[in-house]
Amino acid sequence: MKPSKSSKLHKYIKDLEDENSDLKTQLMEAQAIIASLHQENHALSKRLNSYKGNAIFDSACTFITNQGFSTQCENCYQDIQSENLESHLSLCLSMITHCSACNEPLLIMKPSENYENIIKNDTNALLLADMNFTYIESHMINEKGNIDDMMIDIEKNNIQKLDLRLAHGASIEEKTCDSNKNSLLHIAAKMGKREMIQYILSKGLDINTRNEFGETALHVACGKVKDLSMIKFLVSKGADIEICNSIGDTCVEVAQRNSFHEAILYFQRRSVGKTRLLGSSIGFRNSQKKISMVETKNELL
Ligand SMILES: [Zn+2]
Ligand SMILES: [Zn+2]
Repeated sequence: MKPSKSSKLHKYIKDLEDENSDLKTQLMEAQAIIASLHQENHALSKRLNSYKGNAIFDSACTFITNQGFSTQCENCYQDIQSENLESHLSLCLSMITHCSACNEPLLIMKPSENYENIIKNDTNALLLADMNFTYIESHMINEKGNIDDMMIDIEKNNIQKLDLRLAHGASIEEKTCDSNKNSLLHIAAKMGKREMIQYILSKGLDINTRNEFGETALHVACGKVKDLSMIKFLVSKGADIEICNSIGDTCVEVAQRNSFHEAILYFQRRSVGKTRLLGSSIGFRNSQKKISMVETKNELL
């Protein structure tokens, strides 16, 4: 019996489906090979990087570069095979920019469908994606850090790092997240970091900036910290000794509350030197008031 037209068509469709499924299998196999090659490539480039700095390796690299096998891309600073450089560069310029703060090469594009398509279809883009560049936005967020990172910088006296954070968008007016809401200046005063204070002031933070309880850095130095040299330093930088915290205490009164006698004496001597009036440590606040009255009188005269 002759096969009908319809059964012929069915057979044809069946053959096509089989062929399609074969092709799918082949494609999957090819993708698996590409993925493993990628992994191998990545591992090799990691190993290669670990050799950098080794004199023999470096001189071999120079030799290869001089021979024209690879050239450093001026945009992303990666060694690129010379014959690929031109095509690499046009793509590199469209995908990689530099951080305005630290000049690190960074990926412009965010991961998106479009980006995924580009790296799927372009070997050069695939290479760039493999070089582990950071995206510009995540770089800015990472480098900026948070108040805890800034506190660590202050603790380690790392002015350079703090400077980089500010260049990446951190604010010198950042405050701690606890109920004290201390400024960087309060933190630096607490830790006794003078260079840091100098730097923070140079970045424009007011020396009399206050925390949630109305305290200045000077109040902090007069309190539990009891740091006389810090008090002297802050005063020399223009800290106002008259400012009251939210319970109405000046820094002298904070020193009195903490039985910080050296500080009380220092403030007394300062006032005496300024006005030639003697104040006793008891009732010092009253003498302070008298002093300021005398000062006002003198100013008027
Ligand atoms: Zn490049
Ligand atoms: Zn940067």
